[in-house]
Amino acid sequence: MQRYKSMGNFAALELRIIPFCLKLTMSKEKQQTSISELGEFGLIDRLTKNIHLKNKSTIKGVGDDAAILDYKDKQIVVSTDLLTEGIHFNLMYVPLKHLGYKAVIVNLSDVCAMNAVPKQITVNIALSSKFSVEAVEELYSGIHLACEKYGVDLVGGDTTSSLTGLTISISVLGEIKNENIVYRSGAKPTDLLCVTGDLGGAYMGLQLLERENEVFKGNENLQPQLEGYDYILERQLKPEARVDIVSAFRETGIKPTSMIDISDGLSSEIMHLCKNSNVGCNLYEDKIPMDSQTKKMAEELNINPLVAALNGGEDYELLFTISLEDYEKIKLDPDFTIIGHMTEPSEGSNLVTTSGSAIPLQAQGWNHGK
Ligand code: ADP
Ligand code: MG
Repeated sequence: MQRYKSMGNFAALELRIIPFCLKLTMSKEKQQTSISELGEFGLIDRLTKNIHLKNKSTIKGVGDDAAILDYKDKQIVVSTDLLTEGIHFNLMYVPLKHLGYKAVIVNLSDVCAMNAVPKQITVNIALSSKFSVEAVEELYSGIHLACEKYGVDLVGGDTTSSLTGLTISISVLGEIKNENIVYRSGAKPTDLLCVTGDLGGAYMGLQLLERENEVFKGNENLQPQLEGYDYILERQLKPEARVDIVSAFRETGIKPTSMIDISDGLSSEIMHLCKNSNVGCNLYEDKIPMDSQTKKMAEELNINPLVAALNGGEDYELLFTISLEDYEKIKLDPDFTIIGHMTEPSEGSNLVTTSGSAIPLQAQGWNHGK
């Protein structure tokens, strides 16, 4: 946890002022330029003109028909994600800059989950006419910020129009040495089940934003009540990818036996590891790490915080298994919490409650925006 929190607040992504102000920032503050004024090529130029390539493996970035990469003797990891307005995000309370940042992070997180290091991204966007050039620049300022912070090069993309809102799809490429690759499928019975950071915060942040959005829709003069909940708002609006954990694994000589990132909620991710590795699991309720703001918000909204951790999703922490011999290497590290252990497949995947009873885990998945 410490390592994550020590990454600190990212001043350039001001959280407080932006939620619920989007309509204002888009329409009143600045002069707006319509995309048709610039044209597709003009827009791409505006969005990519300040890119400075950072990685040796990037030979050619934006500007030709395709990018050229050179990974020498390394293996290449590729992953992609698609986000649609109204399904995956609501622009009433998700600022465009944060959306751009988060769209990059969710991809970097997938690369981390393979124990690899992200190096390049490509960005595809479809835009309806409600978006001005300035709005798209705002989206890209978040994308560029994530690229800077994580040392990733934006090497290409595609731009097109849409009839309904914004769609954004990002692909990421990363590198890894063959012997370091970690799949979902390597867990063995008796392995320890570990997680980084804390869980349920992103979900509770979303609940808070949705509640305040409802209030705002009823009366636009009411200011949102967000004080005291910075951490869970950040977890929802400005998640981070655990590249620091991948480096920590290298430094301490740990190679997880299996790994996955938590995008859909602990419960369903555990079940993926169990299914792919053909093992069972005991997860201990009292070991699941949760921040005090997550619990406080849950109490305020009358939600069991355990549900947020198990089924909430979007925490982008890493869930992994290690063999018992590696226990000594991680036991004192505050970044890792041991939350259970793997078992024979016949025992199934269970949540062991604080009172000691075992309940079969259920994969609910994460129904975005619901
Ligand atoms: P093509 O006609 O071959 O698709 P484009 O004119 O769409 O070429 O793209 C020109 C260059 O700009 C390419 O290098 C492409 O990767 C890049 N590009 C296009 N759209 C984007 C975008 N939204 N973000 C980043 N780069 C982009
Ligand atoms: Mg194109």
